[in-house]
Amino acid sequence: MRIVVLGGGPGGHFAAFEAASLGAEVTLIERDNLGGTCLNWGCIPTKTILRSARIALDSRNAAEFGLRLDPAVVDIERLMERKVGIIEGLRTQIESTATRLKVNVVYGEGRMTGPKTLRVTTEGTHVDFEPDAVILATGSVVSKLDGVDHTIERVWTSDEAVSLVEIPDRVVVLGGGVIGLEFACAYASFGSQVDVIELTPSVLPGNDKRVQKSVQIALEGLGVRFHLGTKADTVAQYGETMVTTLEDGTMIETDIVLSAVGRKPNSEGIGVEKAGLEMDRAAVKVDAHFRTSVPGVYAVGDLIGGMMLAHVAEEEGRAAARNAVREFEAAGAGRFPQLESVEYGSIPACVYTFPEVGVVGRTRDGAKEAGLDAVQAVAKYSANGKALGEGESEGFVQLVAEVGSGRILGCQIVGPHAVETIHEVALSMRNGLTVKAICETVHAHPSVSEVIKAAALDVAEKCGL
Ligand SMILES: Cc1cc2nc3c(=O)[nH]c(=O)nc-3n(C[C@H](O)[C@H](O)[C@H](O)COP(=O)(O)OP(=O)(O)OC[C@H]3O[C@@H](n4cnc5c(N)ncnc54)[C@H](O)[C@@H]3O)c2cc1C
Repeated sequence: MRIVVLGGGPGGHFAAFEAASLGAEVTLIERDNLGGTCLNWGCIPTKTILRSARIALDSRNAAEFGLRLDPAVVDIERLMERKVGIIEGLRTQIESTATRLKVNVVYGEGRMTGPKTLRVTTEGTHVDFEPDAVILATGSVVSKLDGVDHTIERVWTSDEAVSLVEIPDRVVVLGGGVIGLEFACAYASFGSQVDVIELTPSVLPGNDKRVQKSVQIALEGLGVRFHLGTKADTVAQYGETMVTTLEDGTMIETDIVLSAVGRKPNSEGIGVEKAGLEMDRAAVKVDAHFRTSVPGVYAVGDLIGGMMLAHVAEEEGRAAARNAVREFEAAGAGRFPQLESVEYGSIPACVYTFPEVGVVGRTRDGAKEAGLDAVQAVAKYSANGKALGEGESEGFVQLVAEVGSGRILGCQIVGPHAVETIHEVALSMRNGLTVKAICETVHAHPSVSEVIKAAALDVAEKCGL
């Protein structure tokens, strides 16, 4: 069986590797670098920069820990060298896996030319493919606000922000979502004056209210100023200065305007019309098995919308590859294929601010809206020895469970190592465990995970267990 995968981000390269492991002859088309947005422009560069930002912040707070240190001074060149080194190291590993699995990587711009045909253009030359199945994984692109002139050098998107040629003294971040807040947190920790403008009344739209408030307060503690429930009317350049004017006439002068107002599926120019794919606005429409409206064509990752996260794209890519192979083999044998889906309800979503945020499943309000009899318990880090020792005792674990059964419905964590500890709850949810399972698991002392157990003990009682 021959499969062509379009796009070498987490959705695409994991699809390609899975299909190759299952014996398919795979071609992976990538116009830029393997690893996609995640490795080259997103997850990895931001977390690398955030690590430096954390050290800078810690150096400013060193006296509190009984250390005499001068506040860190940023060496932008070294910081960027480190970032590039990490990206290149990881990219080499993806390339080696492709070689080991005999995935044929073709660098060039790919597009669908018909229901199951593609053309790849590399420096003016074309190669056509007519595989048995196609997996589309072209990711997403930055959304741009009408009225903000992105040709101005001082107007950045996350692409310029991760390239970090300078740490601006003053920056306005348009958008208080995950990407906007991670950059706000990094810049504020480096010492920049940061203003965040968010259209909705709270940061991290769509999240639990306690999470929103807690993150806002923590970032305000770093000096970030929030302008919520408003928008930038105009963004104009006056010499070296950018002036952002809000709806109420407030003017904010900065060196840089960072637009972080979201991303949209990258479906333009990939031949969706030629292929005859059904769309849901910019997203390619798929069923629960990642099948598009065209038989033999699958789509995954940011391109299909939904939870636009790297680990979601990866999981969808693997499932789509297995489904493509199974459908092809079943058709040949005249059988009905057993197809896979992804169980989204237990996938964590994280924000790498200081403190971190890790959420999974439903909030209590969300569970109630879905007709579930839900209760929640909140345990704080302020009484946790490990968190206090680390100087990160702000935040909480909020655990949501079903009355009677004790089934875990969701969890929201704001606090130290939240992006790691959330997996205890994700694992429990994925395996249908109740809060009792967490209560009965001995948690090491001292550990920040003890706060999850404290919340579990409390919510178990509320569930009547
Ligand atoms: C600043 C930032 C921070 C982020 N941080 C996180 C995080 O911490 N955790 C997380 O889970 N997610 C994070 N994300 C989101 C994450 O990067 C995406 O969800 C993930 O990369 C989606 O994977 P994908 O494979 O669908 O698409 P992508 O990673 O976008 O890959 C698509 C690939 O397709 C290629 N391509 C596109 N069109 C064509 C074409 N016509 N021909 C050939 N190749 C093509 C592109 O060059 C790209 O390499 C972040 C995103 C950004 C921007």
